[in-house]
Amino acid sequence: MSDNIQTVEVLSKTTWTPNLFSFTVSRPDSFKFTAGQFVRLGVNPSQLKHYKHADSQTKETAPDEDIFRAYSIVSSPFDEVLEFFSIVIADGAFTSQLQYLQVSDELLLNTTPFGFLTLARYQKPDPKDLWLLATGTGLAPFLSMLQDLQTWQDYEHIVLAYSARSLDELAYVEQIERLQEDFGALVDNPATLTFIPIVTREEVEGALSDRLPKLLTDGTLQKRAGIALDIDSTHIMLCGNPDMVEDTKETLKSLGLVMNRRGEGNIAVENYW
Ligand code: NAP
Repeated sequence: MSDNIQTVEVLSKTTWTPNLFSFTVSRPDSFKFTAGQFVRLGVNPSQLKHYKHADSQTKETAPDEDIFRAYSIVSSPFDEVLEFFSIVIADGAFTSQLQYLQVSDELLLNTTPFGFLTLARYQKPDPKDLWLLATGTGLAPFLSMLQDLQTWQDYEHIVLAYSARSLDELAYVEQIERLQEDFGALVDNPATLTFIPIVTREEVEGALSDRLPKLLTDGTLQKRAGIALDIDSTHIMLCGNPDMVEDTKETLKSLGLVMNRRGEGNIAVENYW
């Protein structure tokens, strides 16, 4: 096994829907990362204790080879454990195995973090308004940032807009609603967080129902957030469905914001697949 691959143990698993789950693993002492970064997690299906309970006949015999996939980290850089948020993709080599994961299973962690969806990338404009726009499991890097006290210290307003198809796919809502109290309250003059849930395929009281580009174009999102998008004060990050990222990026550009390059500019993006 190469030097930067370590074995980690599954400590907990939370099932949100039949296709969405989160899990925590032990964190190697030497492993450091910045909120918003990814790691590569590996699984050897034959090592998963519950694999053989798979209901599909065709999957009775687990393949004996490591499969790696990039995952962004949900937990903060200061947590003792590492948390991940995953979708089950029926024909996906990795997640179709990972759904059988149980506490005390072992995974492989490549301890070289990567990715540039981090707040440190912004040098200009100065931090003031932070917009975090996610669909589905693209929420993960934003939860990590929102559990980092520096984020609460650096910004005045934080807007988290999180879009899912149905209410049951809108995971982590209780945790999000406690973020201001659990993290903001620990610093002087913290940012104020506005959480805007979006559910696109069913009517849900309190949630918006249109897709992000439409909500931005007609101003509904800015109205709900209580702040405007401004080239001189906005940092805006997009993470999730690549179509959402592309469409929303173009919408933001048409509203006068610019891509962040070499530290300058408003928009930073990460496609999730
Ligand atoms: P999704 O289709 O990405 O929908 C999540 C939210 O994003 C919904 O509210 C959806 O709105 C919205 N959305 C989709 N396209 C958009 C666009 N162009 N602009 C703005 N908003 C948009 O659902 P998901 O369950 O998170 O993922 C669906 C599929 O994506 C999975 O079944 C899987 O195949 C794939 N996926 C792959 C990976 C991977 O790592 N390979 C990871 C995650 C997901 P609407 O309801 O209006 O569509």
